[in-house]
Amino acid sequence: MEKLQMIYEGKAKQLYTCEREDALIIHYKDDATAFNGVKKAQIEHKGMLNNAISTIIFKEMAKANIPTHYLETLNDRDQLCRKVTIIPLEVIVRNLIAGSMAKRLNIPEGTPSLKPIYELCYKDDELGDPLINEDHALAIGFASESDLMTIKTLTLQINEVLKNLFDKLGIILVDFKIEFGKTSDGTIVLADEISPDTCRFWDKETGMKLDKDRFRRDLGQVEDAYQEILRRLETLK
Ligand code: UDP
Repeated sequence: MEKLQMIYEGKAKQLYTCEREDALIIHYKDDATAFNGVKKAQIEHKGMLNNAISTIIFKEMAKANIPTHYLETLNDRDQLCRKVTIIPLEVIVRNLIAGSMAKRLNIPEGTPSLKPIYELCYKDDELGDPLINEDHALAIGFASESDLMTIKTLTLQINEVLKNLFDKLGIILVDFKIEFGKTSDGTIVLADEISPDTCRFWDKETGMKLDKDRFRRDLGQVEDAYQEILRRLETLK
């Protein structure tokens, strides 16, 4: 399947039409951004690594009966995915407190949460993806009540699948961000990507960060960390 026309370029990926009406090709780039695009760089091989990582994770999701946009990995950097309309919500789950929540509430990073925390942000770069709640999402019309219920149920299931998967690989799933889309028949599916760009992964033994925080916080060995996540996921095969 060939890429035809680029219809969207985001910070880490490009979207192309292809000969299938009901599908798009997602191209993973090496570009990395942080702090809402203020910090920019290229991370060598990141596109290839995230494509491979996301592929394994989406296949695991399918095994767990989570509906996703994923269809097929075409090559090192391209995935064929179902065409969806992205719901403008960044859905975050936190198992341990870190990042923006640690800062906002002045809680030490790494504090375990007594229950998985479910957060919604409005996906809008200009506003810096502000935190909202379900009432805001309903009031503004981002999603219906039943859509929000589906999203929450799927998200908590996805957290369980991911947490158990990474636990087996010696990795703590600290938190992650996912996005959902709607297919032409109105089905809500997990979309976008799941990778070290969108999750916090800490090594269980050493506590080493194996995710984009290495880039955000200038910790070095960014590519090595992404490689390590892929290496461990490949042991599942
Ligand atoms: N995240 C993301 N994209 C965003 C914001 C957050 O993928 O635009 C991920 C981030 O990698 C982390 C989780 O969502 O795994 C929670 O992020 P947080 O709210 O702590 O924000 P951050 O500290 O990354 O700004």
